[in-house]
Amino acid sequence: MAGGDPVDGWLARLPEAQRLSAHAATDARLLGWALGLATLLIACAAVSRAGLMGRLRSVVETATPRPWLASALCAGALALILALANVPVGAFANWRIDLARGAGGGLLAHLGQSATGVLPSVVETLVFAPPIYWLMRRAPRAWPWIVGGALSATILAGGWLPYALASGPALAPAPAGAVREGVARLITDAGLPARTILASPDPAFDADVAGAFGQAKVVLGPQLLAAPPAEARAWVGHLMSHYVHDDLLVVCLIYGFAGLLAMLAVQRFAAPLARAFGARGARDAADPETMPAAVAVLALALVAATLAGNGYLRWANVRADQYSLDHAREPEGLVAAMERFWDHASVDPNPLEEALFYAHPPLSKRFAHVAAWRAAHPGPDRRL
Ligand SMILES: [Zn+2]
Repeated sequence: MAGGDPVDGWLARLPEAQRLSAHAATDARLLGWALGLATLLIACAAVSRAGLMGRLRSVVETATPRPWLASALCAGALALILALANVPVGAFANWRIDLARGAGGGLLAHLGQSATGVLPSVVETLVFAPPIYWLMRRAPRAWPWIVGGALSATILAGGWLPYALASGPALAPAPAGAVREGVARLITDAGLPARTILASPDPAFDADVAGAFGQAKVVLGPQLLAAPPAEARAWVGHLMSHYVHDDLLVVCLIYGFAGLLAMLAVQRFAAPLARAFGARGARDAADPETMPAAVAVLALALVAATLAGNGYLRWANVRADQYSLDHAREPEGLVAAMERFWDHASVDPNPLEEALFYAHPPLSKRFAHVAAWRAAHPGPDRRL
């Protein structure tokens, strides 16, 4: 790689056919995402405009109000309609993605697979929607805070707590050797509170630095244990930055906060949006006639949350690459590990794809970052 752009040289080590298919698959994913969102929004508007929710409600509320039954019926019907509308769109998108990757079955197989998601989504809606609508009727002002708070607690408990407690099966210590020694030196140099380095037997597992509250657990997978020490040190150095900066906690808080904002947005905007869709009788968020508009608001909120969460993570991953370079000082090892664990997303996506789908910057940008660091830190004594 002497002379020429090192980034091009590193990218060229990935097979060209794989780079091209990754690019095509990422483009297909964007098309599928756009079609899916458009289908959902159009279906919500159409159901509102047709007055379907109001009609279903009047079927069960002929004499007396039956709010539980009405909300269950409306939510179940809406979930069924939206899930059915998504079947061909989801199948088409996955078929296109598989085609780009040169794998997978035909469109029919994808249709079948997509259809299996319909019943679970209706059942889940029937479990969760009626109690939430009860809460919306009982506490019309406070419900977004209660639901948003419960959502945040669930995200923290499911997303962050297992990491913070470094829970998981008991693991054996990593075998002695150059990899363990190199990683142990990195841990000592960076002052990480980890006493042992463990080995995971899972062949798909790369590595992890987990924990909180002043304790850290470092786990290496079989691939890194068998890799050159520079790769293991570089990869663990990256993960150490996530640990040091509490990135998982931050991203869980972002999603929790976004969930709260989404509920407040439903409370404030769902009824006006339902009326704009044509459901003139929609009174407030607790009214089943507002349901399709609430789903549309939630879908847009999810897009916003994804943009925010991925935006933070891409920034945190630039910082983690920098942390690895500054502490492990293994630029070639970092590039090799990035190539080893490449997730087969386009190395050079368009800005919208990057904003929506990328938690790490694309490989071309990460390689450029490493190349810039290497150019600023020349010499054979980089490791010192
Ligand atoms: Zn990372």
